[in-house]
Amino acid sequence: MKRVIKLAISVLWFIGMSLATLVMGRNRPLVILYYHAVPAHFRAQFGRQLDVVKACALVVPADYVGDLGASHRLVAITFDDAFTCVTDIALPELAMRAMPSTIFIPSGALGCLPAWEMEEDTEDRSEAVATESILRSAISPLVVLGAHSVSHPHLTRIGHAAAWEEITCAKAELEQKFAVPIELFAFPYGEHNAETVMMCREAGYKHAYTVIPQNIDADRGDFLRGRVSVSPVDSALEFWLKIHGGYVWMRYASTLKRVLSSRGSANHLQARCASDA
Ligand SMILES: [Zn+2]
Repeated sequence: MKRVIKLAISVLWFIGMSLATLVMGRNRPLVILYYHAVPAHFRAQFGRQLDVVKACALVVPADYVGDLGASHRLVAITFDDAFTCVTDIALPELAMRAMPSTIFIPSGALGCLPAWEMEEDTEDRSEAVATESILRSAISPLVVLGAHSVSHPHLTRIGHAAAWEEITCAKAELEQKFAVPIELFAFPYGEHNAETVMMCREAGYKHAYTVIPQNIDADRGDFLRGRVSVSPVDSALEFWLKIHGGYVWMRYASTLKRVLSSRGSANHLQARCASDA
């Protein structure tokens, strides 16, 4: 039901935004997708999604900065958690279409089943993180490796020192293992705040990626980039809307939710202080 409501809002949002773009004549934005697992039994669906992307957009790397948005709709493809099925199933499909992608790796979990918190009903629970040798053989001009922390914690809840270690050690470990620069970082669970964003900058990353949908102006090299969640099980309409920025309204909805909940806590605190006084 929640999914249907989101879809309905996205349709309305897309229509509104398309009209606004028609009037204002803006550049087409860059939309960054993020997948988790692409299990073998969804290979055909995943391939069809790539064909949809190919038909309406130019696929660029997740760190693309430039003016191609003046002439093309731009899409970038990323994968969080570096599951074996991504290297086995998704990368060959991407290679067939010469599409670039980025894989964000939890450096301390290579070759292991995820030990971190996950939704109860997700199939990802049974997917193993790819081994060091599998990921090494996946590196190519089309495949960029990025960091996804060491142990996939909630970075905003573990304290400054631990978060700094997760962010910096992931980069150092992956660079040492794979002998490639690790310049991109995806926040586990998308959780970030001003402090963890600053840590990523200070650690030497070029961009950090959230899980908040965003129409990115690719002309600008903004450090923080939003992404929209996609899955091979998305319906054709859902997927099409996602690559066309239809889910960007969720960005404003989550800001509103944050503001309302911080006001709620402030009111609660005030009420408590008043009753204590
Ligand atoms: Zn993750």
